[in-house]
Amino acid sequence: MRPQLLVGGILVSLMGILFYLVPLPLTYFWGIPFVVAGGIMAIVSFFLPEGRGPIVPPLGYGFCVFCSAPVLLNSDRCPRCNGLQPRER
Ligand SMILES: [Zn+2]
Repeated sequence: MRPQLLVGGILVSLMGILFYLVPLPLTYFWGIPFVVAGGIMAIVSFFLPEGRGPIVPPLGYGFCVFCSAPVLLNSDRCPRCNGLQPRER
């Protein structure tokens, strides 16, 4: 069960219904595919495992602002890209 995907699928379906109702040739054409795709997203969400949430750095580390490698919080430079880390942390 992945609630984010369920909500996303419902929103896509609602957008497809809106496209179907709006009397414009291009949006009318995309109405049914959007409803079908939103339905697939909602159904698939029940079979996927729960998302693991945001990625957090290991204890005592922060992410490099340039390359996202873990950097010790008291070090000035990143060991991977040698980028100077901002001091306000
Ligand atoms: Zn880096």
